[in-house]
Amino acid sequence: MRTKIVIVGGSFGGINAAYALRRQLGDHAEITLISKDAEFTFLPSLPWVILGWRDPTLLQIPLRQPLARRRIDFVHAEVTEIDPAKRQAHTAAAQFPYDSGVPQLPKYSSLEVRDQLRVCFLLS
Ligand SMILES: Cc1cc2nc3c(=O)[nH]c(=O)nc-3n(C[C@H](O)[C@H](O)[C@H](O)COP(=O)(O)OP(=O)(O)OC[C@H]3O[C@@H](n4cnc5c(N)ncnc54)[C@H](O)[C@@H]3O)c2cc1C
Repeated sequence: MRTKIVIVGGSFGGINAAYALRRQLGDHAEITLISKDAEFTFLPSLPWVILGWRDPTLLQIPLRQPLARRRIDFVHAEVTEIDPAKRQAHTAAAQFPYDSGVPQLPKYSSLEVRDQLRVCFLLS
């Protein structure tokens, strides 16, 4: 059975966690990234927008396509609750179950992966 991983947030933290987990776990994991923003915004360049030095449309990248290329499901929604007892993230429209345990795969049970699984649940 594939480990279900839910990541909340589609910015630097969430995207990096999703990509790193896909790289390390390959197809042994089912990864879903939920973000209330449909785009990634490159925040460090926002000051240049105010000064008129950057086109704001160039700082925003829709999340769905780059995530899909890595077989990461994207859900555009706000997470309203996380229920650790039931291991579910809730949005207004649906519940997303996740496994909080380390995948039952000896090859991937290193501390490094355990730590990544711990930090992958981002609500920043
Ligand atoms: C103007 C500006 C300039 C900056 N410049 C630099 C710089 O030069 N260098 C540097 O290192 N850092 C810089 N930073 C800081 C850097 O942008 C942040 O450290 C970084 O964005 C943090 O990333 P994050 O993924 O943790 O959170 P965030 O970028 O805050 O992203 C949070 C994500 O979670 C989503 N989200 C939040 N709540 C929910 C919810 N309930 N349900 C679903 N989705 C949710 C949001 O939509 C978003 O996608 C800058 C920040 C700003 C504002």
